[in-house]
Amino acid sequence: MATQLVISGHKLRIPDEETLVGSWVKSLGIEPERKLFSFNGRVIDRGSFLDLTSKTASNLASSGLLPGDRVLIAGENSLDLVISHVACLRLGLVIVPVNVSYTEAELAFLIEDSKPRAALVDQEEWHELLNSIDSDLFVSSMAVETRSGPNPDLDLAKPEDPALIAYTSGTTGKPKGAIHTQRSLLAGALSVARAWEWTESDRLLLCLPLFHIHGMGIGLHGTLLVGGSAVLQKGFDKDLVFSEIAENNCSMFFGVPTMYQRLVEDERISQLASLRLCVSGSAPLPADLHQQLKDKGGVDVLERYGTTETMLTISNPYLGERRAGSVGFPLPGVEIQIEEESREVLVRGESVFKGYWSKQKETNDSFNSGWFKTGDIAEVSDDNYVTINGRIKELIITGGLNVYPQEVDEVIQAHPEIAEAAVSGVESQEWGEEVVAWIVMEKGINSINIDEVRKYASQYLASYKIPKRLVIVKELPRNALGKVLRHKLREKE
Ligand code: AMP
Repeated sequence: MATQLVISGHKLRIPDEETLVGSWVKSLGIEPERKLFSFNGRVIDRGSFLDLTSKTASNLASSGLLPGDRVLIAGENSLDLVISHVACLRLGLVIVPVNVSYTEAELAFLIEDSKPRAALVDQEEWHELLNSIDSDLFVSSMAVETRSGPNPDLDLAKPEDPALIAYTSGTTGKPKGAIHTQRSLLAGALSVARAWEWTESDRLLLCLPLFHIHGMGIGLHGTLLVGGSAVLQKGFDKDLVFSEIAENNCSMFFGVPTMYQRLVEDERISQLASLRLCVSGSAPLPADLHQQLKDKGGVDVLERYGTTETMLTISNPYLGERRAGSVGFPLPGVEIQIEEESREVLVRGESVFKGYWSKQKETNDSFNSGWFKTGDIAEVSDDNYVTINGRIKELIITGGLNVYPQEVDEVIQAHPEIAEAAVSGVESQEWGEEVVAWIVMEKGINSINIDEVRKYASQYLASYKIPKRLVIVKELPRNALGKVLRHKLREKE
C-alpha cells in the first residue's frame, strides 16, 4: 500500500494482565469515603459505589446471566445507569448501549443482531415494548432489584474478553456492532488520561450521553480509572452546566460543537474559564467558534478526534498550541497513517476494536493490513498537526450524533406519496450539519408538507435522524450506475 505518512503517539505501556474492571477495582479500593459521583442532589462515595456494583452484579447473576451474555442498557444518564454499567462489566457481561430515543424498529434491529439475554431500562413502557420484540428477554429496571443469593465471582474478565458492543455503521450500510474488549476500553481511557494529565483531583462535568463512546468510554471510564470524580447530568442543559461549574468545583467539561455553540451565545460563557480543561469532539469544531470561545470566554478548547471503533486517536496537546481547525497529534499508544492517494486516515493501536459482531466480511473490509480504515480524510501540516477535512463515508453528524443517510432514505422513500428520496447534511451553525431530504413526488402529486413527512418518519427513526427540511425536485442526481450523488444534492437546493 502506498503510504504518505505514518505518525505515532508516545508509547502506552499497560501490564499484560491488566483489564478495565481490574484497574477500576484497584483504584476504588483506595480512599472509599471520597466523593465519586453526584447526580440530581444524590452523592455517592467510592466505597459505596463499589459495594453497590457488587450487589447489583450478584442480582444479575442470580437472574441467570453468565459472563459473555449480552445485556442492553437503555436509559438516560443517571447513577443507576452507571452502577448497572459497572456491575455488568464486573460480572463479565457484554454491554450493548442503546440510545433511548430509538424507535421500536431500531430496537428490533439491535435485538435481532446482538441477541441479548437481558435488558436494563429506565422507562416503564420499554418493558412491554422489549418483551413484544423478544419474549425471552429478561427485562429489568435500571435499579436492579436486590435479592439474596450466592455472591458470584467478580472482576475475572481477561484482557481480550469482549466488554462492549457499540453500534455504528462504520463506513457504509446498516448499523454494525463494534466489539471492544476489556483491554481496548482500558487502552482508550488510559491514553486520554495520560495525554490530558487527568488525575484524581479532577471533577468532570459529564452531560454527554452514556450510550456513546465519548461520554461512556472516555468520560465515565476515565473518571473511574484515574480515581477522579464526576458531576453527572441527564443531558445537556446550559443553565445546569453553568450552575454546576459555579457550585461544584468542576475542573473539566467534555462537549460536542453544538453544545459549545449554545454556551458561547450565553453571557455567562466566561465561567468556563474556571475549568482547567474543556474538550470538544464527535464533530468538527469550526475554527471561528474556537476563536469566539477564546475571545468571549477566555477558554482555549482542546479539540480531539476519534471513532466508536478506535476510541480517541488524535488530540490537540494539553500543553502547547491547541490549533483551531486541527485535531492535533496521535494519542499515546496510537499510530496514524494517511493513505497517499485517498488521504484516508488509518489507525492502529491497542484501543482499536476487535471487529464487528457476527460480521466477518465487514470486519475484513474495514481493515487494511491491520490498520482500521476510518472513512475520514485528513492532511498533516509540516509540524505534524492533523486536520480532518472531509469524509469518504456517507455520514451526517448533527449535534454530535451520527445519521447514516441510507437508513433515512429508505424510510422517507416508503411514504406512499414519495417516489424517491435521498438525504444529505447541510451546514448549520447550530447543529454542525442538518439533515435535509431531497424528494421526488409520486406522479400526480405536487407537494407534501414537512410536518407530514416528519410525523411519518418518527414511527421508524429516532428524532435526531428525521429531516429538518425538504426540497422537492424532479429527479435525484445519479451517476451512470444509478447511484445517487449526494454531494450534488446540495446544488439543487
Ligand atoms: P462516532 O463513531 O460516533 O464517534 O463518530 C466518528 C466520526 O465522527 C468520525 O469518523 C468523524 O467523521 C467524526 N468526528 C469525530 N471527531 C471529529 C472531529 N474532531 N473533527 C471532525 N470529525 C470528527
